[in-house]
Amino acid sequence: MNTMIRSSAASAGLVLAALQSLSVPLPAQAQAVPATSVPSGYGRYCSLSYSGGGWAFSHLSGASSNPCGDMLATGPGGTIARAGLWSVSGTNNAMAVCNDGAFQVFYVGTGAAPATWAFDAAKGKSKCVITVSPKALPVFVKPYQLYTGSVATYNRWDFNYYDLPIKSTDFGQPANASCPNSKVIDKNGKQACWINGHGGYDWVMPANNALKAAAAGVVRKARFRDTTEFGGVCAQKSPQGEIYIEHSVGSGTYAERFLTYYAHAKAIDVVDGQTVSAGQVIGAVGDNGCSSEPHLHFSVQRLTNLTGFRSFTPTYPNSGWGISGIHGLIDPFGWNAPVNVDPWATRLIGQTKDGVKSPGAYSINLWKSGQVPAQ
Ligand SMILES: [Zn+2]
Repeated sequence: MNTMIRSSAASAGLVLAALQSLSVPLPAQAQAVPATSVPSGYGRYCSLSYSGGGWAFSHLSGASSNPCGDMLATGPGGTIARAGLWSVSGTNNAMAVCNDGAFQVFYVGTGAAPATWAFDAAKGKSKCVITVSPKALPVFVKPYQLYTGSVATYNRWDFNYYDLPIKSTDFGQPANASCPNSKVIDKNGKQACWINGHGGYDWVMPANNALKAAAAGVVRKARFRDTTEFGGVCAQKSPQGEIYIEHSVGSGTYAERFLTYYAHAKAIDVVDGQTVSAGQVIGAVGDNGCSSEPHLHFSVQRLTNLTGFRSFTPTYPNSGWGISGIHGLIDPFGWNAPVNVDPWATRLIGQTKDGVKSPGAYSINLWKSGQVPAQ
């Protein structure tokens, strides 16, 4: 539907007419995120908090089960502290944090076992919140065109984003003689030499290679951002092309939500609030902003079931890295070290960073088979 808008330019004595569409797009946050189907073999869990320090926990294997609803219907009310998915026959992480962080336990195991262990360990304690996370949730397709040349990876996600005093030997890996002073830890627990505090993967590929949506979602922000502030090695050739897409695996109370972030796009083919499908072309690889050669910087942020809180609403600042802190940033290949649990999920508990308490999250391997990008 169109409507005629009239305005007068008195000085020129003219009457101008313009056509303006009334189909104004919804504000970005109001746009519903299309649900990606939950793969088969995932159950649902719920951690409930009651006033006064009481709590309850339930994990059910049914794909359509309703552990929160069951407990809310039969108990004294309460609020949902965590609710999400767990793998019925695969590997899961589970943590219980009680007594305002004074009591913490972390488990990894198969199926229902780790959540049961966490629950048993927390019995009798106060203010317990149990967070469960599957090791894998295969829902993403490769975020770039299935390019036949080799794709080099020159930076990966840093599990020690805050430069905590951790070392590779904590995770069953030797020190790295090439960078003995580095505190950067990769997904295998190995000490790495790349830049400290890198929030995603850098994949080198030819300019103009297509960028693709990793899953169905809503574009929360698409822009070319001035990153002149970085200067130095980041002196920009032109403003940085950035695309942020929100995804939802399942819908409702138990949905696991993620935000993907694509940087250095030469071309952007989507707009704020647009719905995209999995694999849809959203832009093209470029070499702008803080970049030294054509590549895709790709990062994933968890928006639900973080270490310290149930959900997180991101913002898109024009300064810094353009993402609203590191809350919930994860490695989309998951945590695979031979020893010990995901340090990003467990070592920030009780710590406040950027004004947010316990901002860590469990990494998850999100790739569908046959769609795994370069590692
Ligand atoms: Zn990067």
